[in-house]
Amino acid sequence: MPKRITDHNIKSSDLDDNALSVVADLHAHDFEAYLVGGCVRDLLCSVKPKDFDVTTNATPEQVRSIFRRTRIVGRRFPIAHVRFGRELIEVSTFRQGMIDQVETNEQGLILKDRVFGTIEEDAFRRDFTINALYYDIRAEAVLDFVGGIEDLQAKRLRFIGVPAERLAEDPVRMLRAMRFAAKLNFTLDPVLEDFMDDTADRLEEIPSARLFDEFLKMFLSGYGEAVWHLLKETPLARSLFPSCDPDSQLVADAMRNTDERIANEQPVTPGFLVAVLLWEDFQARRALDNPENKPALNYDIAMDTLAVQQQHIAIPRRFSIFAREVWQLQDRLVNLHPRHVQRVLHHKRFRAAFDFLCLRGKTDKILEQRGEWWHTLQFAETAIQNKMIDELPKGHSNPRGKRRDRKSPRTLFS
Ligand code: ATP
Ligand code: MG
Repeated sequence: MPKRITDHNIKSSDLDDNALSVVADLHAHDFEAYLVGGCVRDLLCSVKPKDFDVTTNATPEQVRSIFRRTRIVGRRFPIAHVRFGRELIEVSTFRQGMIDQVETNEQGLILKDRVFGTIEEDAFRRDFTINALYYDIRAEAVLDFVGGIEDLQAKRLRFIGVPAERLAEDPVRMLRAMRFAAKLNFTLDPVLEDFMDDTADRLEEIPSARLFDEFLKMFLSGYGEAVWHLLKETPLARSLFPSCDPDSQLVADAMRNTDERIANEQPVTPGFLVAVLLWEDFQARRALDNPENKPALNYDIAMDTLAVQQQHIAIPRRFSIFAREVWQLQDRLVNLHPRHVQRVLHHKRFRAAFDFLCLRGKTDKILEQRGEWWHTLQFAETAIQNKMIDELPKGHSNPRGKRRDRKSPRTLFS
């Protein structure tokens, strides 16, 4: 029997209307339905949930027959996505408890799991005790089958079951452990240390598209700096970002900056972090393979830098192009030339490239001054802008005094 906790801090006004209506409609069709996972955990920790997940004994097809705008997703385990305008409620069906009925590979990695079970079986299939808490809306009670409440109070992240087995089933759980520990300021089970090297290797088996989703959750949820701080001390950092120095100051600064932007409700894009994480590798390759800084070669070097990362985390094209464009503008922002200033200022990536320059400027006086110059320029009136541009030393159109190779792409590093 689960523990039933009615003395808790969850108020009905904290709950999401759409999730509530999904639960109520499932009840009306005589199904069981609960709020589950991150939303219950976060509410109990007085943190605003990112999203609300529902779990039920209705199968995904039954869920689809009740809600009009429903899509069934997930290859390993099918889940119903019920859409309400821009909001999506994930409705999962109770998973079965018999892990030996689940299809795994030789290492124990779960490949397919399409048999459904009871709420209790479902609880034991979740990853961490604090993620296996169910909220019964009608009774206003939290149901705890696995000791999650106790761990929550002790601020402890604990795997349900044997960590080695749970990590073998799904190594991404190690990344999730770091993310939740960082987000909630919980302690990680010290035993996880022993599995770091193995998990780092095993992340190679995970589809790179899934790792991109995980990358977004880790670094674009508002607590990326704390996640990075934990991750960079482990071999997982090298496994995810093989060409990034875990001690890079630029990366640490960018993570903090991203968190601040999210807190201030400013827009953020994964493309910017991609540019940051790979910048030093790009620079090193450029110094080695293109000492004369030829534009056409730089284009290839940028592509190579990105291609190495793509083998680990699938970066959608629009974000890798974004990163390349931010890199491209760096030379133009640093080597000021009167003829190029207006074009750079009106480039669609100017704002991101300028922010990137300012981050670089945190550890480099000259770059910091360049950042200040562009800062003044972009907010100045036209007359002042013209004066600033006039005052720049007039040189050859190419700062290195060479003609542009006309065959090279104009848009990159030219
Ligand atoms: P958040 O949404 O705040 O990132 P969450 O805990 O809700 O955190 P989701 O990825 O939305 O995370 O998953 C919802 C729930 O599904 C989790 O709380 C957990 O119970 C279960 N779950 C998700 N991924 C796994 C996994 N890889 N292994 C086992 N259970 C999982
Ligand atoms: Mg969630």
